[in-house]
Amino acid sequence: MIFNEEYETLPREALEALQLKRLKQVVQRVYHTVGFYRRAFDEAGVQPDDIRTLDDLRRLPFTAKQDLQANYPFGLFAVPMSSIVRLHASSGTTGRATVVGYTQRDIDTWSELMARCLVAAGLTKNDILHNAYAYGLFTGGLGIHYGAERMGASVIPMSGGNTKRQLMILQDFGPTALCCTPSYALNLAEEGKVLGIDMRALRLRVGIFGAEPWSEKMRAEIENALGITALNIYGLSEIMGPGVSMECQEGRNGMHIFEDHFLVETINPDTGEVLLPGEKGEMVFTTIMKEAFPLIRFRTRDISRLLLEPCRCGRTLLRMDRITGRSDDMLIIRGVNVFPSQIEAVLTGIEGLEPHYQLIVERTGNLDTLEIQVEVSERLFSNADEVKVLQNMERRIVNDIKEFLGISARVKLVEPKSLRRFEGKASRVQDRRQL
Ligand code: AMP
Ligand code: ZN
Repeated sequence: MIFNEEYETLPREALEALQLKRLKQVVQRVYHTVGFYRRAFDEAGVQPDDIRTLDDLRRLPFTAKQDLQANYPFGLFAVPMSSIVRLHASSGTTGRATVVGYTQRDIDTWSELMARCLVAAGLTKNDILHNAYAYGLFTGGLGIHYGAERMGASVIPMSGGNTKRQLMILQDFGPTALCCTPSYALNLAEEGKVLGIDMRALRLRVGIFGAEPWSEKMRAEIENALGITALNIYGLSEIMGPGVSMECQEGRNGMHIFEDHFLVETINPDTGEVLLPGEKGEMVFTTIMKEAFPLIRFRTRDISRLLLEPCRCGRTLLRMDRITGRSDDMLIIRGVNVFPSQIEAVLTGIEGLEPHYQLIVERTGNLDTLEIQVEVSERLFSNADEVKVLQNMERRIVNDIKEFLGISARVKLVEPKSLRRFEGKASRVQDRRQL
């Protein structure tokens, strides 16, 4: 089934004509309403009228996460606050995250695109959807929720956490579909097994998983543990939230990008050069229908490639492959975005610590764990005859990390000068997860 038959199966030519029309409009609009874009376009020597073909897109400058941060919180909004009906932020960091805003029409659009995703996964009005993405500032929970209501499934707004309760609802309400991060799906399966629940005997038949990297191996594990079909969904708050692209149940290989709303390019992350369709690189998106927070050539830092073969489902929308990495050092820990620089900022704000640290990320069972090893100062170390001093320090770091970044970490204080020093670029992260 296809939710929006007309737009999801447009012949390429008609799609491109529509894209060009929409691109021209959005470029005009941001130039005249957002100071940042006016300056950026002027600096790049490009004017809205210069956009005559889709290829002219590459004349426009990129927008980076730093531009969003520099205009925190609302500086890039293209409408007055009175037209904004909802605010969200990227996952992670209770500090200055990326803030995004939506008009009522944006919410309607997002709901439609999410409805397209759910229908692509084979859902109908008769399905019950267990939504275990976090509700709140993070876009996952509410994004999926509105999409489910739009296409008519019965949505259970579980949100994240409280695994025992989730398992009870999975048994009692008999949902047929599950939305959460892929690692949490495995975690649910594992915990269920411990409690003696036959997870394959639940009514679940399909799962829609995203918000963090996963692999074909994990897909097989999840499908086997829960007795379901597992599909990949991609999105990021800057561009909209979940529902930028989604795998269909027929193809089950790569996620259809809703190209009537988003233009996609793949670039070489080092040079910014636009790559040929199908080449692997950093995905760059331009939103052509968003009102409140349009983004021009946003560098996602996510590495993937476009899949050019037509899909048997009948959608003409291009697909993108799984995300295979990042072109920056962002980590996703239990679905939460974490930059090492944010951890560093917390550590350097605490007296008695040295700016030498090491982050070790592992997956134990199905849960991500983060260990922070950090050197204490000579002074603290020589005064640390009392174990209590060090214990208090560890506790403080754990609390601060939790408070500022929203993640739980294990902290290990180490002796001065014991961590490895780097001559060139420091590599402070060891990601030992094997997905
Ligand atoms: P957020 O803005 O907090 O929703 O985080 C968005 C980021 O999550 C993306 O830029 C990706 O790095 C990651 N992400 C989202 N969906 C997926 C997916 N299906 N596979 C891999 N990474 C994903
Ligand atoms: Zn398809």
